[in-house]
Amino acid sequence: MGKDICVFIECKEGKIRKTSFELLTKGRELTDKLLSNLLAVLIGDNVINLAEDIRPYEEKVIIIDGEVYKDYRWDTYTDALEFITKKYSPFLIIGASTITGKDLFPRLTARIGAAFISDATGIEIIDGELKVKKPIYGGKIISWVSPKSTDKVIITFRPNSFSIEKGNRTGEVIEEKINAVPDKRMHLVNITKGQSEKVDLQEADFIICGGRGMKDPENFKILEEIADIIGARVGASRAVVDSKWRDYEDQIGKSGKTVSPKLYIGCGVSGALHHTMSMDTSKVVVAINKDPNALIFQYADYGIVDDLFNVLPALKEELMAAKKEG
Ligand SMILES: Cc1cc2nc3c(=O)[nH]c(=O)nc-3n(C[C@H](O)[C@H](O)[C@H](O)COP(=O)(O)OP(=O)(O)OC[C@H]3O[C@@H](n4cnc5c(N)ncnc54)[C@H](O)[C@@H]3O)c2cc1C
Repeated sequence: MGKDICVFIECKEGKIRKTSFELLTKGRELTDKLLSNLLAVLIGDNVINLAEDIRPYEEKVIIIDGEVYKDYRWDTYTDALEFITKKYSPFLIIGASTITGKDLFPRLTARIGAAFISDATGIEIIDGELKVKKPIYGGKIISWVSPKSTDKVIITFRPNSFSIEKGNRTGEVIEEKINAVPDKRMHLVNITKGQSEKVDLQEADFIICGGRGMKDPENFKILEEIADIIGARVGASRAVVDSKWRDYEDQIGKSGKTVSPKLYIGCGVSGALHHTMSMDTSKVVVAINKDPNALIFQYADYGIVDDLFNVLPALKEELMAAKKEG
């Protein structure tokens, strides 16, 4: 088996997602160690113009362009990636642990008979062996997993797991033509867009999350205001989303999104496992809760035991003052 690594580039609304640049940076670091090639696979409709953005990171940009790939579909995208992995034989295929990644990669794994490690947060190569960091049991244990050296491996990583550093390569652009035939049993009816002007929750560097302790949807206004000051994104617990206080696209947790921001501020969030398992890799966690025994404090780097309706206005004032001072 070769030593090349393939990165699946994910696009959203005509742009390459930030998480793909993280994977390209990490992939380049690994292939530098292995003295091998990094391949990027970009699938979509009219995506050739995006190749320039990723050429500095790797040796080859493989483009699969066509109207049939306009929107993500499991059938055409799995066909395309299967073709690429068979033709170029990378030993490792990496992608993001996003909604698309969670749908696509298990299918590809079954097609090509690979080993699959999902939702990882780190990777190293020690003495030629892959060591993959993966939180388990809702983040209570960090495991290091090593696939068999004979296996082809597919790994998905949580967004925000790696930093981005632009390289100075000039990757060769290769266009591949694949005759992917969409499964006639399904067709796309329409796509309902969420509030697309917001930063993607999974890619946000700063998140301020409201739980049931916020008491009322109106009270999320102060979270939005604080988010505006620090350039954060507002998230929510499932209790909040189930109460229709916030849209589902804001939900963090097992049945929502997995996040790994630089800063997570939980306001009136109890810290139930179904929530914390999807934010436990945040770099810094601040919890505001009036119950000193709230589970969220077990994950917090900084904890404030107080009524959030006292804390949030004071926090907003301080942040505004700090911003003015520059
Ligand atoms: C299969 C399954 C999937 C699930 N998926 C998810 C998921 O994706 N995401 C998710 O979040 N949950 C999920 N849950 C639900 C999860 O188990 C919890 O019920 C939920 O996270 C609780 O939300 P909460 O912390 O906002 O509310 P609560 O548990 O009600 O906590 C509210 C907190 O606010 C504090 N509080 C109240 N008033 C104030 C105040 N004035 N000032 C300061 N603090 C205050 C309280 O002390 C309390 O700790 C799932 C559950 C199941 C069974």
